[in-house]
Amino acid sequence: MTPHMTPHTKRVRWLFGDQLGNHFTDDHDGEFLIVESQRVFARRRFHRAKAHLILSAMRHRAAELGERCRYIKAATYAEAVGQVEEPLQVIAPTSYAAVALVRRLGEHRDIEHLPARGFVTAREDFTRWAEGRGRRRLLMEDFYRDARLRHGVLLEGSDPVGGRWNFDHENREPPPRGRATLGVDEPVWPVEDEIDAEVRADLDRWERDGEVSFVGRDGPRLFAATREEAQERFEHFVEHRLPTFGAFEDAILEQDPWMSHALISAPMNLGLLDPLEVVRRAEEAYRSGHAPLASVEGFVRQVMGWRDYIWHLYWHLGEDYRRRNELRATGPVPDWFAELDGGATRARCLSHTLDAVADRGWVHHIPRLMVLGSYALQRGWAPEELTDWFHRSFVDGYDWVMVPNVVGMSQHADGGVLATKPYTSGGAYVNKMSDHCSSCELNPKVRVGEDACPFTAGYWWFLDRHREDFASNRRLAQPLRGLDRLSDLDELVAQEEERGSSAP
Ligand SMILES: Cc1cc2nc3c(=O)[nH]c(=O)nc-3n(C[C@H](O)[C@H](O)[C@H](O)COP(=O)(O)OP(=O)(O)OC[C@H]3O[C@@H](n4cnc5c(N)ncnc54)[C@H](O)[C@@H]3O)c2cc1C
Ligand code: SF4
Repeated sequence: MTPHMTPHTKRVRWLFGDQLGNHFTDDHDGEFLIVESQRVFARRRFHRAKAHLILSAMRHRAAELGERCRYIKAATYAEAVGQVEEPLQVIAPTSYAAVALVRRLGEHRDIEHLPARGFVTAREDFTRWAEGRGRRRLLMEDFYRDARLRHGVLLEGSDPVGGRWNFDHENREPPPRGRATLGVDEPVWPVEDEIDAEVRADLDRWERDGEVSFVGRDGPRLFAATREEAQERFEHFVEHRLPTFGAFEDAILEQDPWMSHALISAPMNLGLLDPLEVVRRAEEAYRSGHAPLASVEGFVRQVMGWRDYIWHLYWHLGEDYRRRNELRATGPVPDWFAELDGGATRARCLSHTLDAVADRGWVHHIPRLMVLGSYALQRGWAPEELTDWFHRSFVDGYDWVMVPNVVGMSQHADGGVLATKPYTSGGAYVNKMSDHCSSCELNPKVRVGEDACPFTAGYWWFLDRHREDFASNRRLAQPLRGLDRLSDLDELVAQEEERGSSAP
C-alpha cells in the first residue's frame, strides 16, 4: 500500500473496452479507468472501421463519465495501470489473454476481481448444466431451454409459450423470389460527432506515420458507439424489423445487406446493451401482439441461446481449443482474401461478400458461415490463422466469440464438439439461399471446366480429402455415397488441386 492510502481508499474500477454500458458501472460509486493502448492496433492489422468504432465507443464513454473517469492513453496496459495508485477492481475480462494480463499485474498490486457481466447466464449456471449432462453432448438447444426456464423467458408456467421451444422450421426460408430486398425499413444510422472526427484524424495520423496499418474502409460509422445510440437503434429494430426476423434469417440478398437482422452484435459485445434487457424487450413485443412468436423466439434463441452458449464454451473448452485442428488444415489465408479484395475473383458470392466486409466490417451470419467460412474449409486453410483474420476484419469480433464460431462451428476443427457435421456446401445451396449465382459468370451446377463453380467442385474435393475422417459420420453417409457416383471425380480433384487457394 502506498503511504497515503488507507484500507478504505476507494477502488478504481478498470473498465475494458468491451465493458462500456451502465451494467458495468451502475453499482460503483468510485472512479473509473479506461485505457487506450495504441499498441493493440499496431500489433495486428485490424479493419479500420473496427478500430474507429472501439476508440469512438471508449472515448464517448469516458466523456459520459466525465471527471469520474481517468482516460489514459499509453503504449501498454501495464504502463497505464502503473499511473493509478489506488487499488483496482476488475470485472472478469472476456479473453484468456486479458485474464492473464490482470493476473500478472495483480502479482504486484491490489486488484479485486468481480464476476463476468454482459451475458444472460452466469458461468456457474453453465457449469452446473454441463456437469448434469454426464456423457451427453453439450447441445445448444438443451442449454437454451434450461436458460429460458431459469430466467422465465417466453414461458407459460414451465412450458414454452405456444407449446413449442423451437421455430427453426419456419425460419429457414430462401429469399423471396423476384425481390431485390425484403422491403423492411433499414436501420437508422448513427450521426457522427466531434469525437468521431477526432478518432478519424488520429487514425489518419497513425497510418501516415507508419505506426499502424489497417484493412477495409472507414466510411461513416454504422454501428452504435454509445448506449443511447444502441438503445435507439435496437428500439427501431423491435419496431420495424423484429416482426419479420427469422423467416429469412438464412437468406442473402445482395442489395439488402441488413434484411431483418438486428445489428446489435457490435454494441452488445462492446457492453453497451445488456442482453437480458434485449431479450425482455423482444418478449414484450410478442406479449403485446407486435411481433409473432416465431420471430421473437428465433431472436431470443440467437441472443440468450447461441451468444451465451458460445461464451460459455470458450471457457469450458479451455485455452488450447483455439489450436484444435482435427482436419489437419495448414494452408495460409491467401492475400486476396486477407486483403478483402473482392475484385480478385470471378466468384460472385466471394467477391460480393469480401467487398461488403471491406465496406462495413460486417456481413450477417450466413455469408460468414456459408460463403467465407465454407470456402476456407474446402480449401484447407489453417483454422487458427482464419480465426485471427475473422477477429481482425469484423467490427463485432472478439476472442471469446470468434474462437468457437470459427474453430468449432465454421471449420469443424474440433472434430464435432460444436456441430455434428461440417457447415459447407456446393453452389446449389448458395444458389437456393441467395441471389448471387444469377449474376455470376460461373455455374453452380457445373463441377469441372471453365464455368465450374468453385464451391460445387470444392465441396466434393473437400469430402474426397476427408473420406476417412467422416467415414463414421452418419450425417455425411449420403454425400459420401454421392462422391462414389461422380464419374469426373479424378478430373475434378486435379482441377481443384491446381486451383488450390488462388482466387477462383
Ligand atoms: C464464422 C463466424 C464468425 C462469427 N463471428 C462473430 C463475432 O465475432 N462476433 C459476434 O458477435 N458474432 C459472430 N458470429 C455470429 C453472427 O454471425 C453474428 O453475431 C451476427 O451476424 C451479428 O449480426 P446481428 O447483430 O445483426 O445478428 P442477428 O442475426 O440480429 O442476431 C442477434 C444476435 O444473436 C447473437 N448471435 C447469433 N448467433 C451467434 C453466434 N453464433 N455467436 C455469438 N452470437 C450470436 C449476436 O449477438 C447477434 O447480435 C459469427 C458467426 C460465424 C459463422
Ligand atoms: S455460381 Fe458458385 S461461385 Fe458463383 S455465386 Fe454461385 S456459388 Fe458462388
